[in-house]
Amino acid sequence: MSKSFNALKLAEEQIADLDLQLLKRKLRITSSPCDSKVLIEERELKAFCSNDYLGLANHPEIANAWSEGAQKYGVGSGASHLISGHSIAHELLEKRLAAFQSHHLPKPRTLFFSTGYLANLTAITGLVRLASPGNASIYSAKLNHASLIDGVRLASAQTNAVVTLFDHTQLDSLIDALKKDTRPFKLIVTDGVFSMDGDLAPVTELLAIAEQYDALLMVDDAHGFGVLGKQGHGILEQKNICSDRIIYIGTLGKAAGVSGAFICAQDSFIEWLIQKGRPYIYSTATPPAIAHALLKSLEIIETDEGKERRTHLDKLIDIWQKEMHFSAWKKISSSTPIQPLILGSNANALLAAQLLDDAGYWIPAIRPPTVPVGSARLRITFSANHSEDDLRALINTLQSIEQQVIEKSF
Ligand SMILES: *Cc1c(COP(=O)(O)O)cnc(C)c1O
Repeated sequence: MSKSFNALKLAEEQIADLDLQLLKRKLRITSSPCDSKVLIEERELKAFCSNDYLGLANHPEIANAWSEGAQKYGVGSGASHLISGHSIAHELLEKRLAAFQSHHLPKPRTLFFSTGYLANLTAITGLVRLASPGNASIYSAKLNHASLIDGVRLASAQTNAVVTLFDHTQLDSLIDALKKDTRPFKLIVTDGVFSMDGDLAPVTELLAIAEQYDALLMVDDAHGFGVLGKQGHGILEQKNICSDRIIYIGTLGKAAGVSGAFICAQDSFIEWLIQKGRPYIYSTATPPAIAHALLKSLEIIETDEGKERRTHLDKLIDIWQKEMHFSAWKKISSSTPIQPLILGSNANALLAAQLLDDAGYWIPAIRPPTVPVGSARLRITFSANHSEDDLRALINTLQSIEQQVIEKSF
């Protein structure tokens, strides 16, 4: 056995350095289903941190559908979609997801993925390869999710696409850059709901810009699908927009409560990604049982139960906005179940998270690089399984913790 070799020493030093900067992250092990209360190391904590907005992750009918799917299709898909892994369950799910967006994309087609990360990598790298090397421009919102950022970086490395970042709250510089852009292929990429702030992208304005400058508009609606719109179809339904230029990404491990993601777009774009999307082609298909479970989840999202869950979420958001007031912490204006409190320093965010834990709450501190330096925060999220009393109790606890953090901080 070698004593200490260079790579190992580097790893140890880097980890020690993260710890020193208060940037080391810790795994916590749960031993109960994802729900409004969870068991962690034999303590029951009230959780306000999952993305299970509709409270479907522990829904008995969806769990039954998963079991039924396993009985029907077994537990594994056995291969990638193009080899032998594409089941009738995947096919039915893709048709159903396409129907969800049919008022927002003319004749849409859908491609199902095991994760949103993979869907985003596939969509960006694949679409950019429609242009010859050096002939594509990508415009990416600065606060986009890491999977979009990585997709953009990979596409740029593979094809020499030119990348421009833009501020989604101020579109003038995006327009200026597009005016000067003579490349024949342009892709604008944005989160639908920004995942750490909870605000919506200005998709109506972005679509008008995409139309004016002949660009595609890719919207990653990981936090809008299931939540936004009367029927839960997402941000395109909420904003009532429709265009053949839209590349819509929805994920299915958040509000849909299960796992997976999809790209929804015009048939030719989807067909191209099936032919050329490397992460799609070279990855084993999700177990069909999961697709079967997701069909049940989509049914719940669209019908009365889903509507009731969304109405209840809206009520929680309304209570939070009306009753939650702080003296020092900054509340971001958000109309979604993502309600961040900006504490600034890593130390303050960690202290607040610890005090919350002591009081029986699970809300981890979110620190850089997930959020910009100096904007460490508590990212509070609501689920339809929280009651109004749960929320009011949280509000009381947070207000007393704010005072304690102010007294102890520097
Ligand atoms: C969570 C998330 C993803 C990744 O989806 P997974 O299915 O968890 O891989 C992509 N984009 C955004 C905006 C997200 O919040």
